[in-house]
Amino acid sequence: MKEIVVISGKGGTGKTSVTGSFAYLSSEKTVLADCDVDASDLHILLKPEIITEENFLSSYLAVIDYDKCVTCGKCFEVCRFKAVSFEDDKFRINNINCEGCGYCAKVCPSAAIDMQIQNDGKLYVSKTRLNKTLFHAELGPGAENSGKLVAKVKNNAKKYARENNLETVLVDGSPGIGCPVISSLSGADYVVLVTEPTVSGSHDLKRVIELVKKFKIRMGCVINKCDINLKLTAEIKQFLNDQKIDLLTELPYDDAFTKAMIEGKTVAEFSNEIGTKLQRAWYKITELMR
Ligand code: SF4
Ligand code: SF4
Repeated sequence: MKEIVVISGKGGTGKTSVTGSFAYLSSEKTVLADCDVDASDLHILLKPEIITEENFLSSYLAVIDYDKCVTCGKCFEVCRFKAVSFEDDKFRINNINCEGCGYCAKVCPSAAIDMQIQNDGKLYVSKTRLNKTLFHAELGPGAENSGKLVAKVKNNAKKYARENNLETVLVDGSPGIGCPVISSLSGADYVVLVTEPTVSGSHDLKRVIELVKKFKIRMGCVINKCDINLKLTAEIKQFLNDQKIDLLTELPYDDAFTKAMIEGKTVAEFSNEIGTKLQRAWYKITELMR
């Protein structure tokens, strides 16, 4: 089983359109994982029908039992996050500031603090219109731990792939270089970088390449909108060549991306020209994985 992760240094490069197209072009022995949990949109293209859902229980919140509290103030003294205050003769915990570290519960002399686990989102398993299974998730409003949620989505997809003898786990990773991306990269066999020839696109591509290098994973790049700045495209290609990164394909600027999204289709289904280029790119990746 091989795990292929699609990421981009910045948002708006067409990462999800490329992942959706690879999902369409991949064999039936593929399972999909949408790890862009902060702004998931693969479902727009794949129209999943939810089969199962479960709560994502992750963070903790300190809750005081006032029947046991002896108002000693130890919780106030130790909390580094200014989550404990003293109001109306009582020590109170501010839910927004509480980081769930549990220090207050450890020092409380009367065991008055209970660390309660919180529901931070939902994990879903769905059947897509492509007849492939999609593992995806939704982070609750204001909830943290997106890196942990990504790991959970990915691990569930990998477990499913192993149990069902599937060959490929195709992951839509998060944009940027933060915790969710690091979580998306862990354990991957190949990384597809989607970029565009803009100053920010090229800058963020270099940052994300530095990150992937630390994981020692082979990389390939899709340059989207390659004709909007030919000079920058040439510079990106030279950089990829110097870094020994595979150039998977170059896609021209095409409103087929937007039109396909509006119709809820992948761009590979919508445009023959783009579809053929992405098919060749996908073939290249699968050959490399062999
Ligand atoms: S759990 Fe940690 S952050 Fe929350 S109130 Fe206790 S010490 Fe403060
Ligand atoms: S440490 Fe425990 S007993 Fe002391 S004020 Fe806090 S909750 Fe109450």
